[in-house]
Amino acid sequence: YTGKTGSQLLTDKVRNIQVQDYQSRPVVVQDSSSVYDAICTMFLEDVGTLFVVDKHSTLVGVLSRKDLLRASLGKQSLETIPVSIIMTRMPNITICKKDDFIIEVAKKLIDKQIDGIPVVREVERGSGFEVVGRVTKTNITSLLVDLSNDEII
Ligand code: ADP
Repeated sequence: YTGKTGSQLLTDKVRNIQVQDYQSRPVVVQDSSSVYDAICTMFLEDVGTLFVVDKHSTLVGVLSRKDLLRASLGKQSLETIPVSIIMTRMPNITICKKDDFIIEVAKKLIDKQIDGIPVVREVERGSGFEVVGRVTKTNITSLLVDLSNDEII
């Protein structure tokens, strides 16, 4: 018997959960895609954040709902604007790895005031990141529900 209180056990449990236990699949668009295509992808794939990749599948940007709304306010036709000119770009993207602790990612979501973070893997040292997943506020919410149902070992 460890002598730990219920809340200490819960804290230990939460602190050990990794990104890979709660990540979702990523939805990506090419950097050559138009804003129009990105909006269609966002609706069809039912996500709030898209990750932008180049032709080598390397992460180059992030697109949020508001990024696309903002671009839609202009007069230019959405078919002619490439996402690469409106996205938030590397190196200003907050990323995480599959073996990071989920609570650290939750803190990043709060600190940076963003909805989602790409889960990445370094392809080769210094040659950028490949997107392997995504963590959003929804993943953190389902973690909370699982904890309250005592569904985490
Ligand atoms: P919205 O803008 O729709 O409210 P977010 O809060 O997620 O959605 O995005 C706010 C801004 O932060 C957007 O300009 C978006 O491009 C950017 N952003 C979103 N996710 C990330 C991230 N993981 N790293 C860096 N910037 C991000």
